Amino acid sequence: MSTSKKAARLLGRRNGPNRAGGMTVLVAGGAGFIGSHLCDRLVQRGHRVICVDNLYTGRLDNVRPLLNHPDFVFIEHDVRDRLVVAEPVERVYNLACAASPRHYQNDPIGTMNTCVVGAHNLLELAREKSARILQASTSEVYGDPEQHPQREDYVGHVNPIGPRACYDEGKRAAETLFFDYHRLYGLPIKVARIFNTYGPRMLENDGRVVSNFIVQALRNEPITIYGDGSQTRSFCYVDDLLFGLELLMESPLTVTGPCNLGNPQEVTICDIARLILAQTESASTLDFRPLPIDDPKRRRPVIDRALELLGWRPRAPLDAGLRATIGYFAMKLSAPEDGMRAAAKDTRDRPPRCTPRLAAATTSDSLVH
Ligand code: NAD
Ligand code: UDP
Repeated sequence: MSTSKKAARLLGRRNGPNRAGGMTVLVAGGAGFIGSHLCDRLVQRGHRVICVDNLYTGRLDNVRPLLNHPDFVFIEHDVRDRLVVAEPVERVYNLACAASPRHYQNDPIGTMNTCVVGAHNLLELAREKSARILQASTSEVYGDPEQHPQREDYVGHVNPIGPRACYDEGKRAAETLFFDYHRLYGLPIKVARIFNTYGPRMLENDGRVVSNFIVQALRNEPITIYGDGSQTRSFCYVDDLLFGLELLMESPLTVTGPCNLGNPQEVTICDIARLILAQTESASTLDFRPLPIDDPKRRRPVIDRALELLGWRPRAPLDAGLRATIGYFAMKLSAPEDGMRAAAKDTRDRPPRCTPRLAAATTSDSLVH
């Protein structure tokens, strides 16, 4: 069977006979960059979406067009606290965790607890609801890899006491919890190891390379290259990633992962700077700065497993994805609003907030799917 037919067949299952009107899907971290696109997509597909987020790095603006939709509910909640949901839930996506090194290192103990305690609370919820649960894990579980490219059976090379460890080890422990829930309770789990993903709705001051370079280029400010820029990453456009996440969630119960989801096109950090400078026609210069501690030197996913089990591979070319992302930031910079600030503080003390279920349209930045 061709890979695209396999993918279509997997997603077709979602419209199975026992699901009149779609499923109820809980998206933890649903107001963030990836999570908000996922909420859009799930609502568009006819599902009811419960978005749970503490707005640490997420923004209400990301889901504002959904707030009045009859099938969308926003709950301001920290996943480190137990979550009680009165209604049935069939799917849980756990995306709750700051993904940018700047933000996850800003509150390292909070990050570790979000990864571990947050995952535990969501696993308990999934168990109570007999729901499938997907963990947004990361290529960071491979650390600064000694094997290249990275396959899922590589167990990684992580420094457990460095500044990235709160995230890397937190995500590794979360994977452990997922597999123990699967072994002990037969809980249907899916673990996606996501590689660097970029696109519209990244935070302007996120510190991640794509958003940093684009904003710097658009402002004609120096492009901050850490180290000599020869380190590599493999960048996946958000639209491709979302399709992979959905396919993994709807794959047969025997498919647990871990499953790499990323774009195998590997580029150096200098390459990405050059591409962005060319597309923005920027006058920015290059500003070389020290490489952060434990910064991985190379990263590229082997995606054979995703291709074989899900029929998935990324389709958006880097230049097209960058063009869409540059367009987004150009628009944001010309009309800045509150949502562009980083949420770098702990929001646990805020009272919980729930949106009423009203009506509205959704947004789409889709390039390919
Ligand atoms: P993001 O920071 O934009 O989104 C994370 C969301 O989680 C935010 O809305 C944030 O407010 C929320 N959150 C953080 N801590 C929380 C808590 N304790 N309780 C409730 N909500 C909380 O990041 P993203 O890029 O959208 O990443 C989403 C997920 O994907 C993360 O789990 C991340 O680890 C994973 N991931 C992302 C990438 C990437 O390149 N973007 C790569 C690998 C893995
Ligand atoms: N990077 C850079 N300049 C920046 C931001 C990041 O050179 O302004 C480098 C960073 O050191 C790393 C790569 O780009 O080698 C990717 O960084 P990012 O924070 O986006 O993701 P991660 O390191 O988590 O893969």
